[in-house]
Amino acid sequence: MKVELQNLTKIFPSRNKKSGEEVVAVNNFTFTIPDGKLVGLLGPSGCGKSTTLYMISGLQQPTSGKILFGDEDVTDLSPEHRGIGLVFQNYALYPHMTVKQNILFPLQNLRGADKLAKDEMLKRAHEAAKLVQIDELMDRKPSELSGGQQQRVAIARALVKMPRVLLLDEPLSNLDARLRLQTREEIRRIQKETGITTVFVTHDQEEAMSISDMIVVMKLGVVQQVGKPQEIYDSPTNLFVAKFLGTPPINVFAGRVESEKLYIGDDAVLDVKGAPDGNVTVGIRPEGFIIDEKGALSCNISNVEVMGRDVSVVSTHSASLNPTIRSIIDADEKPAADATVAKFALKPHKVFLFNAETEERIYFEV
Ligand code: ATP
Repeated sequence: MKVELQNLTKIFPSRNKKSGEEVVAVNNFTFTIPDGKLVGLLGPSGCGKSTTLYMISGLQQPTSGKILFGDEDVTDLSPEHRGIGLVFQNYALYPHMTVKQNILFPLQNLRGADKLAKDEMLKRAHEAAKLVQIDELMDRKPSELSGGQQQRVAIARALVKMPRVLLLDEPLSNLDARLRLQTREEIRRIQKETGITTVFVTHDQEEAMSISDMIVVMKLGVVQQVGKPQEIYDSPTNLFVAKFLGTPPINVFAGRVESEKLYIGDDAVLDVKGAPDGNVTVGIRPEGFIIDEKGALSCNISNVEVMGRDVSVVSTHSASLNPTIRSIIDADEKPAADATVAKFALKPHKVFLFNAETEERIYFEV
């Protein structure tokens, strides 16, 4: 099921009558979620991702704009009639019911033409449980399950009604690191197996990058960039997006362009054909540094962290806008143990320039 968001806007009235300031939680969001794809809504706290999800679900009504499921305008439909499955961060299972009863619950509430025979309900509940691999645990109560298992029950409960669209709001936040990893792989597998169009809200860029077909990066209610995870990582449209994606994060320097050369401090570190003269903010991905005796960017080494195949060189530079610079270097190329200075050449496609004021990307020929 294709989901279309057309100029979706949500404005919350001011809570404080005196200040009168309303909150524009989502601002003119237009986007088509392709049929059968998993889209990650990504951004820092308060950027409007949950509000977007709630508008798709029908739990919140947009101030303006439209939502279409396929060709059907669902903007004014109540959540029950949209055919959605919702999973929240806190799984909110009914504690007094068994796993089976929890999964059956949404089916037992169907009325009228949607009402199902008991056999059919049980069959569907078992299918959903099997899909999320909890079919062995059907008679347990939620308190007898791990966090990951509880979240699977919540997903099974959302899937049992065979939703047209699956909506997941930070579904992994309450799980520990190992379970998060495992459960996110599970979600991806289930999504692929069922082919249900899915929207996944998270503030964790790694999580969004690893499971999404497409990512929408949001800031203060405004969409910053939409694309495949790798495309956004490789070509961020502004400094905010460049900083938000990637671990370790991108390194940021104050720089300037003069006659198509990029200067960091007094050193010309890269040819930037086509870039106009002026002050710029420079982003360099950690993997964009090459240890090179003739390298023009000279940094003071504070530490070399061994990571196995690679090392992480932690260094400083007076033009760096972060306290430290982190570069990922192949262990075979690592600086000498007693080195205090690292000289770096740069990989041009890992260097991004941004307007120092607007923070928009400035492109140059690589
Ligand atoms: P988080 O990750 O913290 O949940 P989010 O990106 O999901 O954040 P939203 O919950 O969508 O953000 O909130 C977006 C903005 O709208 C925030 O500034 C928030 O304070 C505001 N907001 C959300 N719900 C309401 C509400 N019911 N009334 C007033 N303002 C609201």
